[in-house]
Amino acid sequence: MDKFVTIIGGGLAGCEAAYQIAKQGIKVKLYEMKPEKFSEAHKNENLAEIVCSNSFKSNLHTNACGLLKEELRLLSSLLIQCADETSVPAGQALAVDREDFSKLVTQKIKENPYIEIINKEYTGEELITKKEKNKEEIIIIATGPLTSNALAENISKITGENHLYFYDAAAPIIKKDSIDMNIAFYRKPI
Ligand SMILES: Cc1cc2nc3c(=O)[nH]c(=O)nc-3n(C[C@H](O)[C@H](O)[C@H](O)COP(=O)(O)OP(=O)(O)OC[C@H]3O[C@@H](n4cnc5c(N)ncnc54)[C@H](O)[C@@H]3O)c2cc1C
Repeated sequence: MDKFVTIIGGGLAGCEAAYQIAKQGIKVKLYEMKPEKFSEAHKNENLAEIVCSNSFKSNLHTNACGLLKEELRLLSSLLIQCADETSVPAGQALAVDREDFSKLVTQKIKENPYIEIINKEYTGEELITKKEKNKEEIIIIATGPLTSNALAENISKITGENHLYFYDAAAPIIKKDSIDMNIAFYRKPI
């Protein structure tokens, strides 16, 4: 079979996408720039490196975080399976040993015969050529908030947008004038 999907970025999103696509019997070319190049936050050579908190938050079915994880379990998510296998005690939360977690995800991705890992920075020059030639190919960009500069610049050229957006689910940024101060209050510094 010569059809394949290209995924750029072997982080959390890229690994899950690669695994789910491979499960459908479709080949995947997974580009990961490590260990050739590291972002400011990434430090180890493994895929699915957790750069900050090792907690995936609550496992309880009485809140959105727990329900989402349970849905992912039902859908055979690779990341949740690996997280469950490498979990560490954290009360009602799902927290993982970050080293064991990324090692396990890397092992599962490496042993998958449908996934080819290419340790190379994908700069996106190819995206511009493909757009010009109107060539159709499925490419998933999963390079996260620390997308390499070269790729970010080329995406910017293609889209005509100067910046990419980063939405942080855990710490959303809200505009001050959108807050109803009749029900909100300032907390005095301690
Ligand atoms: C400092 C910091 C702290 C954070 N803290 C939290 C937190 O506490 N909780 C939380 O939920 N989220 C946090 N985040 C967001 C966190 O990055 C995401 O939750 C999660 O890692 C995103 O997964 P991802 O797969 O989208 O990106 P990542 O996990 O960052 O994976 C992207 C991968 O793409 C690779 N890559 C980048 N550019 C290229 C390229 N051009 N070619 C090939 N490979 C490339 C990178 O090397 C990396 O392996 C934090 C982010 C940062 C930077």
